Amino acid sequence: MQINTILVTGGCGFIASHFLRMLLRETTYEVINLDALTYAGNPENCADFATNPRYRFVKDSITNAKVVNELVSEVDGVINFAAESHVDNSIKNPGVFVETNVLGTQILLDAARKNGIKRFLQVSTDEVYGDTSIDSAEKFTEHSELKPSSPYSASKAAADMLCLAAFRTFDQPVCISRCSNNYGTHQLPEKLMPLTITRALKSEKIPVYGDGKNIRDWIHVADHCDALLKILEKGKAGEIYNVGADNEVSNLTIVKTLLKLVGKSEDLIEFVADRPGHDKRYAIDSTKIQTQLGWQPTHTDFTKELEETVNFYRK
Ligand code: NAD
Repeated sequence: MQINTILVTGGCGFIASHFLRMLLRETTYEVINLDALTYAGNPENCADFATNPRYRFVKDSITNAKVVNELVSEVDGVINFAAESHVDNSIKNPGVFVETNVLGTQILLDAARKNGIKRFLQVSTDEVYGDTSIDSAEKFTEHSELKPSSPYSASKAAADMLCLAAFRTFDQPVCISRCSNNYGTHQLPEKLMPLTITRALKSEKIPVYGDGKNIRDWIHVADHCDALLKILEKGKAGEIYNVGADNEVSNLTIVKTLLKLVGKSEDLIEFVADRPGHDKRYAIDSTKIQTQLGWQPTHTDFTKELEETVNFYRK
């Protein structure tokens, strides 16, 4: 399977901007970035490669079937990052999550089928598996039951089902990745780490949901991008690949560690009413991608990577 040109959706967001930078640095692909520039899209995330001759930006929505079809007709591969991605927003306004995450994915799949796309990679999340109890030793495998808790994770699970249906019914060459929580530079300060760092830098209170004991499995964004490239190039059609770095940390520990790195007191922590339906613990088993595609996380010095992340927001 030879891919030369790739449509990357949501490229002005956190993870996809890292992915685009990596593609332009490490491969010879031509790339088109389709991004609607919602509140979460930041063109500054792409500023350092915006003039690369192998890169083109189109401002539009993945729900615009006409534009999607035109762009998909120019490429061999599609990787769909575009999404409404914040759980809190999905609790306030679920409708737009269905529109972008579910309908948008189907519009991309339809265009991919019409245009004989060689590889379609759906960037999904470990949140589709729901949660486990804090003291459980269970890790989610690709065969774990789908039990999404929030409208966000339910919309991502629905999109996954549409992708699997496209493979089964139309033989479309679709792969799905399900990654754990990402951290790194260029993330919007609505998410836990950048929120904590940016507030700490301004000596503002840091809200922590409930008792802060909820556990997330943290992976550096560069390791996620590396896994996505492996799946894009070597993944088997119809397969799901979990991606995680075996790095389970409670939210409260994250906040305390970041406060220490910023040099601020833990007195800034303010416990607030828990998020409705708040997932307790995520833990991901990524044996499959490690053994079948030869992927390994390499950014595993968590303290060092957190220091670099803090330094980015300082600047
Ligand atoms: P983000 O919120 O930072 O970026 C989303 C991007 O999508 C933005 O640039 C936004 O403008 C764009 N977008 C939104 N609606 C669009 C539409 N209708 N058409 C075109 N573009 C649109 O998101 P992120 O955290 O980088 O996540 C990217 C993807 O990775 C999402 O699909 C998310 O579900 C998945 N994911 C995220 C994480 C994580 O920890 N952040 C973990 C696993 C999977």
